[in-house]
Amino acid sequence: MKVILVLSVVLVLFALIFPVAAAWGTLPEESGDTPPASDVSDGPGEADDPGGADGPGGGSPFYVPDTPDTTQNDTAGGDSGVTVRLLDGGQVREMSLFDYLTLSVAAEMPAEFEPEALRAQAVALRTYYLYKLSHPVHEGADICSDSACCAAWRDEAFFRQRWGGDFEDNLEKLRSAVRDTDGLVLTYGGEAALAVFHSSSAGRTEDSAAVWSAALPYLVSVESPEGADTVPNFASSVAVSAAEFRDTVLGAYPEADLSGPVSEWIGEASLTGSGRVGSVLIGGVSVPGTALRSLFGLRSTALSFRCSEDAVTIVSLGYGHGVGMSQYGANVMASEGADFREILANYYPGTELRDMGAVILIPD
Ligand SMILES: [Zn+2]
Repeated sequence: MKVILVLSVVLVLFALIFPVAAAWGTLPEESGDTPPASDVSDGPGEADDPGGADGPGGGSPFYVPDTPDTTQNDTAGGDSGVTVRLLDGGQVREMSLFDYLTLSVAAEMPAEFEPEALRAQAVALRTYYLYKLSHPVHEGADICSDSACCAAWRDEAFFRQRWGGDFEDNLEKLRSAVRDTDGLVLTYGGEAALAVFHSSSAGRTEDSAAVWSAALPYLVSVESPEGADTVPNFASSVAVSAAEFRDTVLGAYPEADLSGPVSEWIGEASLTGSGRVGSVLIGGVSVPGTALRSLFGLRSTALSFRCSEDAVTIVSLGYGHGVGMSQYGANVMASEGADFREILANYYPGTELRDMGAVILIPD
């Protein structure tokens, strides 16, 4: 079998032409890594907390699947013909892309979500996987199962325990979502898009430039329909004593002046285009919303403050970095009749849905 890895050439050209895209390798903050699929890291696939992959993996640029044979398949497309090398629990496991995606969708989105939302999630994860192939971060593996690094994945035993008597039905539902979108990926400029996603937004998704300091043309702020009536725990709050708030802020921003009354500590906030907090003045120092989120373990940067004499309460709306597809938003769109193509077109504007066989591999 002779396989020409055309996309690698395309990628090199793309990187030369679009340095912003090439810069993604060093984008997110200081980590030097591409962003995780999502940044909801407190457990994959929780019924009320979908979302949950973060982080880059590493591996070979284009891994040529050894299963498909061009004599049998002229398009080389299809999830079953691609072998995924998954770093999980310190070991590299090999499985078909179909099996990988089924259990990754299961780990990233509640099985009870609408079928069209699950299909959109399957495409996003397939696309994210292909993106990782061209932006490798794991030696000897394409992607890992750590939601804080790449995208969440759990084995069947995990879901057998979680789902109990619903295991077979749920698994078949997720398999259908993957099967119904077999081989479809989101592309931009011929390359697999960086199809990040998050759990829920507050009205609008976030522009990637507001979170990772560089812009991608398809990761821009768009409307998202979910809210308090469709998202469990849509509003969440973190309350800390004034002393703890002061110590936490001073630990990161020692130049902040928090000597006065609590009511004067927090000043004006500048909002991003999506209405999230881009930065806020605390003790006279400009603190990025993303830094606050990290310092206080907030679920999002769509936040507001309530101060009393001796405490500060921070209320967040939605969950996650807000970039790319909102999972709850996708579910609301699906419940209102949108199909996965419409959902993906809303959250990744300007991308093109293509068969991965046409993108990655050209058979002899
Ligand atoms: Zn990883």
